This record gives sequence, structure tokens and C-alpha cells, in this order.
Amino acid sequence: MSRRVIILGSTGSIGVQALEVIARSPELSVVGLSCASQVGPLLEQAVAYGVDDVAVADAGAAESMSALYPELRVRTGAGAAARLVREIEADLVLNAIVGFAGLEATLATLERGLPLALANKESLVSGGGLVAEIRRQTPVPILPVDSEHSALFQLLEREAPTAVRSLVLTASGGPFRGRSLGQLEEISPEEALAHPTWNMGAKITIDSATLMNKGLEIIEAHHLFGVGYDDIEVLIHPGSLVHSLVRLVDGALLAHLGHPDMRVPISYALHYPRRAEVAVPRLDLAEVGRLDFSRPDEEAFPALRLAREAGKAGEGATCVLNAANEVAVHAFLERRLPYLGIAQVVEEVLHQADTTPPQTYEQAVELDLSARCLAETAVSRNGR
Ligand code: MG
Repeated sequence: MSRRVIILGSTGSIGVQALEVIARSPELSVVGLSCASQVGPLLEQAVAYGVDDVAVADAGAAESMSALYPELRVRTGAGAAARLVREIEADLVLNAIVGFAGLEATLATLERGLPLALANKESLVSGGGLVAEIRRQTPVPILPVDSEHSALFQLLEREAPTAVRSLVLTASGGPFRGRSLGQLEEISPEEALAHPTWNMGAKITIDSATLMNKGLEIIEAHHLFGVGYDDIEVLIHPGSLVHSLVRLVDGALLAHLGHPDMRVPISYALHYPRRAEVAVPRLDLAEVGRLDFSRPDEEAFPALRLAREAGKAGEGATCVLNAANEVAVHAFLERRLPYLGIAQVVEEVLHQADTTPPQTYEQAVELDLSARCLAETAVSRNGR
């Protein structure tokens, strides 16, 4: 029997590529789909893959669906994705929801004891402690879909924790790599959305430009692999061919290489522990010729420092960091905040907010919400 997969956030970049992987794999089938509001593409996916169970966060957008496709069981409203996870039979959940909105479904998946293919790094940034608590009671595998963490997961599989000295996350550096702080003043959303190597959604593309994406990934790696913040390095690697490295106590440095194509980590997570063929070009290192690396400039890209500081301050601070960043990125995309204002807003909110670690999902929601309010005020202060 094939492995039955629920894809949350199926109309986004990761969701669409996951469906491509599933279409080519006799071992996988889709049983549930969810989206925020793009009901047109969701309906097409449901028809194409014969899926009867879906969730749509935007209840208004979902109204037209039942008339068009009466046999479809549609859950709507906030929490619809988590309800889908609780209500239907499945073997694995891919969470590719963007932002804090993905946390509830992550918790629901782990509470059900289902393996979680995780592309929603914000789940761990905002609710890392809650996730750890559930997994202490029910050990459930989390299979990272983030390319760096998929690489680290594969590199670490055969290593004892005592053999690992540090993790090295690679970063493309984004479109503004090499610019000084002063050269980042007048960046427009269009410039920030033009990512050199990875093809991704808007939120993560802006996060890649500010390096906040790497900051969130430091926190994600800490939770996934139990490594301390001082032992997670960041290395700028513009080619995005080395996806991450593991430094071992005997001096060995293990690397994971491949073309930057999200179908590879998606396929790995969905087929785990088996491997399946993915139609990506063969990486020809002789043709590549050389690989370039440099240290990140933490003055021009303060997001790395902010994320590391928040990580060390604890799970309340990382939840606040994520909320403030989501609000700031949104404001930047709407031209209400200049590019450099994103990190300023995050830093100000981190200083103002109560950062007591949430003990329940409800407390995480409250903390996230209060940080968003502070961030909106900070946006007005720093905005145009
Ligand atoms: Mg990544």
C-alpha cells in the first residue's frame, strides 16, 4: 500500500513541488490538502489527485468550493489544517504552511503520532519547547524539508552526538551579499524578491535577503539536532551547491552537495528511510570548477545576531523574534517599512516584549499576538 500523505500549504512553492514528487512516485499518494485562501488552485489539485478532504483557512474564500465540487469535505477557518490532520487517516504530514500559522498543525501531527515532514521552520522557532514536550511523550520523527536541515539530518544519521563538534549552515547570502550596511538603504521589494539561486515564496525570499532566514534556521537546527547555539556556524556560499556541513571531533568535515532543487529534500522526507529517483540534473563538479565560501557580515545583516541572541534567551524570545519579523516583512512588502527597518523592528520588539517561554499552544498564540502588536507600533515608528 502506498504511503498516504497530507500536504498542508499545498498551493505554495513547496506544496506544488511535493505534488510533483508524489505524481512520479508509486510509493506515495495524497489524501489531504490545505491552503490559506487560494481555492482555485486547491480545487485543481484536489481533482487532479483525487483528494476528498481539504482545509482552507480563509472561510470566505472557501464558500464557493462546495457548490463546484459537492463531494469535497471542506474544513474552514483558523485551525482548519490542524482539524484535517486530526480527522483523516494518513501516514505522514508535510507541513509547508508559511509562518506561525503552521504551529498548530505541527502540534496536531505530533500529538497523533504521525511522522512530520517539516518545511514550516517557524513551528520550531515559535513552539520549539512545545514540540519537544510532545516528542518526549511520543517519539515521532521530524523529517526536515529545509534543504540545509535535510542535509544535516542525512550527515548526522550515522554519527553519535558525542562525535559532533559543530554544525555549519550554508547560506547563499541573498541578492545583497557583499554590500555594506550603507549600501542597503534604498532597497525595494522588487530587488529583494530577486533571489539568485533558490526559487521560493515571497516571505522566505525576503528572509533570505536579510539573512533572517538563516537566523531562523539556526534556531531550527538547535531544536532539530540538540546542538548549542555557539556550535552552529553560518558560512556564506553563493553557489548553493553545498547544502550544509558537519564538523566532527576528529577534524573531519562532512558536506552534502547537490543542485539547489527543493524536490530533493522533499523527496527524501516523503520517502524516508528509502531513497527514490528525482529528475534533477547530475551535479558535475568538474564543470562547476570551484566552490566559494566567505564569512557572513553580521553588521550589514544583523538578523543573524538577533536570532542567535533570541535563541540563547529562550523559546519566548524566539517566538517574539518570529512574530516581529513576520510583521516587518509584510510591512516591507507593502512599502510601509524600509528594508533596513525590518531588523530594527525585530530588535526593538525583542527589547520590549515579555519573553517568558510559552507552556501551551494558547500561550504561544498570546505571545505571538502581543509581539505582533508591538511590531505594528514599531513599524509606524520606523516606517515611511
Ligand atoms: Mg533553507
